[in-house]
Amino acid sequence: SEVATMMDLPVTKIISACMSLGMMVTMNQRLDAETISIVAEEFGYEVEFVNADIEESIQEVEDAPEDLKERAPIVTVMGHVDHGKTSLLDYIRKENVIAGESGGITQHIGAYGVQLENGQKIAFLDTPGHEAFTAMRARGAQVTDLAIIVVAADDDIMPQTKEAISHAQAAGVPIVFAINKIDRPSANPEKIKEGLAQMNLLVEDWGGKIQSHDISAKTGEGVKELLEKVLLEAELLELKANPDKAANGTVVEAFLDKGRGYVSTILVQGGTLKVGDYVLAGQHSGKVKAMQDERGKKVKTAGPSIPVSILGLDGAPQAGDKFSVFEDEREAKDIASRRTQLQREQSVRTQRHITLDEIGRRIALGDFKELNIILKGDVDGSVEALTDSFQKLSTEEIQVNIIHKAVGPITESDVLLASASDAIIIGFNVRPMGNARQIADKEEIDIRMYSIIYAAINDLKDAMEGMLSPEM
Ligand code: GDP
Repeated sequence: SEVATMMDLPVTKIISACMSLGMMVTMNQRLDAETISIVAEEFGYEVEFVNADIEESIQEVEDAPEDLKERAPIVTVMGHVDHGKTSLLDYIRKENVIAGESGGITQHIGAYGVQLENGQKIAFLDTPGHEAFTAMRARGAQVTDLAIIVVAADDDIMPQTKEAISHAQAAGVPIVFAINKIDRPSANPEKIKEGLAQMNLLVEDWGGKIQSHDISAKTGEGVKELLEKVLLEAELLELKANPDKAANGTVVEAFLDKGRGYVSTILVQGGTLKVGDYVLAGQHSGKVKAMQDERGKKVKTAGPSIPVSILGLDGAPQAGDKFSVFEDEREAKDIASRRTQLQREQSVRTQRHITLDEIGRRIALGDFKELNIILKGDVDGSVEALTDSFQKLSTEEIQVNIIHKAVGPITESDVLLASASDAIIIGFNVRPMGNARQIADKEEIDIRMYSIIYAAINDLKDAMEGMLSPEM
């Protein structure tokens, strides 16, 4: 209706224009930017978006290079279940008590910082696993600088090891391998490294560039050296932030504490957060009443790469929500409530995901250069055959990337990866498992299932040529 008014047209005309695009809409429904552009064009209007997104009003200004200071890397630990992620995080938490500090980390706040003997610092996200990592990414938050992937040396490279590798790679996050459980007599780290080499992941001992270290999360052997390698790898990233400005960052965890109210753990990524600042985090806002570090110690400020839990927000934001500091409490409140309203209308998506039907049009528009695919199949042979064929469909205009392929059903974690990386999922003789279908519907992820290889290849080919007949 608003769009109709702007163009001085009856609203029915807009509704039927949307219908011709295959969208059944009501007059009170919000349209996304792309639809508005297409519809307006049909009536001879060109659309210019002025501050289209409320998020734009809180875009940060770029920092001047001279204001940037080094910051500690933020690390996530991933790997197959039972390979020792939690044990490693626990060991580091216990052993690397900040020099001169008595008492270890007493509280679980979702992230913690450690300092090595040489004074260098690392921040760890304390929710292990690639699901948490990718869920945050699907919400638009890229927090992790580096991933430690734990592989048990008395086991094999397992499905979730491969998943973790794909998830880290899809995010462009460098990997350091921790070959764990070397205290066990049956441990065979060389076998793991050989397996990695077969996946084209050459670790240093094997003449490659990827860092890896043999460790025992139980005895602590090699953990210090592992962390040194993490820091070495982080140095290459030249991680920097400007500490001298109003803070921004990402929410790691939030909950309601009976006595204290809403407690949110945030990771500062730029600027310095101070007690008394007005904060906007996701759909919530408030004045920071108090801050604590992971040792339960009160702190007054927190700079880049420092996790703190804060009190004072009027609700619990979600993990992966961004936060920023506002000079004006009213402004923070306003944006929070506008976000809540948008959320309620639900039809608004900050990001629409690619579908097979849409590929042809997007390629024709020229704004679509890479097609990301997650491929799951029933046997290795079909997965490999499809990978080859799909990759051969790449043209000068569009590159087909298989960002993850594996044998097995389509899982929740595949859907999250698709959401975070704007990918479509292709299943060959496999189906979505558990909640995967539901989440895919919610996130609007296109899942296609095939049982004939050439049908899958033809569909993709047709889609890329813009010739796919609509799915019935
Ligand atoms: P996660 O599922 O990856 O978080 O794995 P956990 O950290 O829970 O570890 C799974 C099991 O392996 C637990 O019983 C740990 O005690 C054990 N474990 C982890 N690391 C080591 C290690 O380095 N050596 C030995 N012997 N056991 C380990």
